[in-house]
Amino acid sequence: MVIDDDPAIVRLLKKILSDQEMEVVTCSTAGEGFVALQEQDWHICLLDRGLPDSDGIEICRLVKADARFDARRVIMLSGYDSLDARVEALNLGADDYITKPFHPAEVLARVKASWRAVEMQQQLVEMAQQLEELSGHDDLTGVFNRRHFRKTIARAFDHSRRYKRPLSVAIIDVDHFKKVNDCFGHQAGDTVLAEVAKRFLRSVRSSDYLARYGGEEFVVLLPETQLGDALTFGEKVRAAIASSPVPIAGGEALPVTVSVGAASLAHTQFNSAAEMIRAADQALYRAKRNGRNRVEAERRRTTRPAAAPVAQPMA
Ligand code: GH3
Ligand code: MG
Ligand code: MG
Repeated sequence: MVIDDDPAIVRLLKKILSDQEMEVVTCSTAGEGFVALQEQDWHICLLDRGLPDSDGIEICRLVKADARFDARRVIMLSGYDSLDARVEALNLGADDYITKPFHPAEVLARVKASWRAVEMQQQLVEMAQQLEELSGHDDLTGVFNRRHFRKTIARAFDHSRRYKRPLSVAIIDVDHFKKVNDCFGHQAGDTVLAEVAKRFLRSVRSSDYLARYGGEEFVVLLPETQLGDALTFGEKVRAAIASSPVPIAGGEALPVTVSVGAASLAHTQFNSAAEMIRAADQALYRAKRNGRNRVEAERRRTTRPAAAPVAQPMA
């Protein structure tokens, strides 16, 4: 990503980088550049300080404050080559600094060095994700992750079926969560997820099991619990979230609601754990359709009506 208001510099950088088979996107203002950085997939940004609508360092600061851009590199370009200017830019988060006029060979060498750092950081992020997967825990919320859940529900399901014990499952999904991210940023979204998980944990018994099922979806396993009691649990969780808004950074508090779908092995004789989850998922879908911030139960499967009794011959 090249953000510079001087067309000659943009042309030159584009040529230097394109010649090395790099894909280059260019912008000429801070406003345009900031939008492109949010919307495009980029790895390295060459960012001019003296942009017409803002100091490029402001963009650099915003980008560096956003965890989504952890594995990206920002190289500042500037006509100021004083020690103070360079130190300031690096202190404010720039990863490197090139003074204008520059030599193409130096630009290329610095971009390549940045690329090595990008690759290494990507590897670290992937390794951390793999470790997290294996640990069975979700990093953000501290509850079990999907992988752990899959193993746990398989065991719980087999146990309940074999010993004819009730088992319920509730899927909880945050309502309109995309809006939280869109209006208040990804970090506010993360804060909301961590807080709702904390409230869920306060609502479950120690014998219950809570996991993060997907992005903003959680699942609770309720052993020894019939469908009616699972609904009562769902209502408790729903109320725990809706009762008070979630504080986010900057002193604001967001009203958050969740929808819940529940299914129970005591209610329907499911053939597999996957079937039971599907039923809870369908109930969740109905809770969404019926207005959100509500709890719905699985619909009992329609079974074939029992055959009419055969008339007994009179004795
Ligand atoms: P609905 O009420 O129908 O559930 O609407 P919704 O907006 O909650 O549902 P949708 O599935 O459209 O959007 C879910 C959003 O959750 C989109 C995705 O970017 C966001 N998300 C998923 N995982 C995370 C995460 O770990 N952190 C943050 N901040 N957002 C996440
Ligand atoms: Mg949702
Ligand atoms: Mg969802």
